[in-house]
Amino acid sequence: MPDKILRGRVLRFLREPDGITDAASYAYAEDGAILVRDGRVAAIGEAAAILPQSPDAEVIDHRPHLLMPGFIDTHIHMPQAQIIGSWGAQLLDWLNTYTFPAESKFSDPAHATRIAGAFLDLLLAHGTTTAVAYCSSHPASVDAYFSAAETRNLRMLGGKVMMDRNCPDGVRDTPQSSYDDTKSLIARWHGRGRASYAITPRFAITSTPEQMSMAQTLVAEHPDLHVQTHLSENRDEIDYTLSLYPKARDYLDVYETYGLLGPKSLFGHAIHLSERETAAMAATGSIAVFCPTSNLFLGSGLYDKVGLREQGVRRAIATDVGGGTSYSMLRTLDEGYKVLALRGQKLDPLKAFWWITRGNAEALGLADTIGTLAPGTEADIVVLDSAATPAMALRAETIETLPEELFLLETLGDDRAIAATYVMGERVAA
Ligand SMILES: [Zn+2]
Repeated sequence: MPDKILRGRVLRFLREPDGITDAASYAYAEDGAILVRDGRVAAIGEAAAILPQSPDAEVIDHRPHLLMPGFIDTHIHMPQAQIIGSWGAQLLDWLNTYTFPAESKFSDPAHATRIAGAFLDLLLAHGTTTAVAYCSSHPASVDAYFSAAETRNLRMLGGKVMMDRNCPDGVRDTPQSSYDDTKSLIARWHGRGRASYAITPRFAITSTPEQMSMAQTLVAEHPDLHVQTHLSENRDEIDYTLSLYPKARDYLDVYETYGLLGPKSLFGHAIHLSERETAAMAATGSIAVFCPTSNLFLGSGLYDKVGLREQGVRRAIATDVGGGTSYSMLRTLDEGYKVLALRGQKLDPLKAFWWITRGNAEALGLADTIGTLAPGTEADIVVLDSAATPAMALRAETIETLPEELFLLETLGDDRAIAATYVMGERVAA
C-alpha cells in the first residue's frame, strides 16, 4: 500500500486538559499533515516537516478542515437502531414497550446483518470509528455486528446481552445458555482482526443471581475482556433492583458481589450513586459512562462529573443510542454541556474533545492503539468542517481561537460537520 498524507489543520491531545487555557495538553498544527503508512500513523505534525518524509505519497488536501482522531463511543445498543426517537417512556417501560420487541427480531440473522451494517455506516458518517456496543441476546446479532465491523476493518467492542428474567420469551436466555453462547462468541471473535469481546450482563433487573454467577465465572476465565452493564440510571430501576437483590447494600453491590468491578468494567449512566458506591468504583478503577442525550430523553437524571472526578472515579462519555437521541458525539457533547450546566458544572471544549478521543481511549485502556494519532497508532481519523451549515459558517466568521472553534463544532455540529472519516488510513465516509 503506498504512503498517504492527509493535509489540514491537525489536532491531537497529549493528556487531559486542565482548563480552557491549557495549551500544553494538545498538539495543534495550523498547516499540518499526517503521514499514513500501512494503516498506521507514521508521522504527524507541521506539513513542512511531514511532506519531505515521503515525496511519492498520495497527498489528500483537506485544508481548511480540522483533522483529529476518530471519535469513540463507549456505550451504544446496536439492536436499537429502529427505536431511536420512540415517544413517551421512562427506562423500565421504554424497555418493555420498545426495546425488547425490537431486540427480539435479532434472532433472524438476515435482519441482524442488515441492521448491523446500517448501524456501523451511521457511526462512520457521524465520525465515530470505535464503539462499545450491546448486541441482542441472540448470538446471531453478535456475529452480524462483528462481521460487519470486519468487512469495514473497524476496531469495535461488543457482546451478547445476558438476560434471563423480567423480559419476554423472544429475548430471554438462561444462565447456562448465556454462558455457553458467550464462551463460543469469545472464541470466535475476541482478538480476531480488530474485534474485542465485552462480557455483557444487561443489568441486575434482567439477570438472576444464577446468571450473575455465570457472568462472574466468565470474567474470571477471561480477565482480559471488558465488561459492560447499566448502573443507577433512574430511581425506579434502583428500587426494583434492591427488591430483587435484598441482601445488596446498594445497586453497585450487586455487581461487586459477583466480581464485576474493575478497570475494564464500563457502567452505563452511574447517576444516582451513594458515597459508598463512588468509593468502590474509584477503588476498583471502574468506569462511570456518561450518556447525556439518553439521560435527558428518558428523564433519568443528571450525571455528576465533578463529584465523580473528585472521588477519583474514571469517566467515559457515550451516546446510548437508542435511549440516546443521536449517533453524533458532537450532539452528545452539546447535551453533556447542558446536563453539567444544570448541575452548576462546566465542560470546556478542550476537555470535551479530549474526552471523545483520547479520554475515551484511556477509559478503554486503548490509548496506545487509538484516539491519539501518536506515531504507531491506528490511523482512524475524522475530518471536521466548522462551517458545514449556514448557521455554522456565519458563526465561524467571528471565531478567533481553537477552543472557540471546538465549542462551535459541539454546539451546532452533527454529521453534516463530518467532511470525511478514515479507518486505518482508508476513506470510508463522507
Ligand atoms: Zn444502555
